[in-house]
Amino acid sequence: MTIFSKIINREIPAKIVFENDELLAFRDINPIAPVHILVIPKKPLPNLSAAEEGDCLLLGRLLQAATIVAEQEGIAETGYRTVINNGDDGGQTVDHLHLHLIGGKPLGWPPFTERMKHG
Ligand code: 5GP
Repeated sequence: MTIFSKIINREIPAKIVFENDELLAFRDINPIAPVHILVIPKKPLPNLSAAEEGDCLLLGRLLQAATIVAEQEGIAETGYRTVINNGDDGGQTVDHLHLHLIGGKPLGWPPFTERMKHG
């Protein structure tokens, strides 16, 4: 069981900002911007690669929830970024699919340092 399953089950606390039957959104414990929220399916998919045909609607709702939370957080007009890290090279550290919703300040692009660009 991952830390995110424990958050879903209310076994550990989190600052929850959105919830419905399928999804949960809560503030990242280590925010990289004024707004940094994780939107997750309650279904414990380990990552995006594990999603199957039958998960297409769930993935769409995950994105839709991000837009709803962005509105709630007041960053829909100013803009924001959504990120899904997948696997080791993708920087994924928690094996429960999650979408990062990041905003509240201008975000640079591309989001890599010179060192990361060249390996
Ligand atoms: P990843 O690197 O897997 O894409 O992102 C995992 C995110 O989960 C990180 O941004 C990290 O700060 C966040 N995180 C890890 N443990 C916890 C926790 O216990 N509570 C909350 N709210 N966020 C967490």
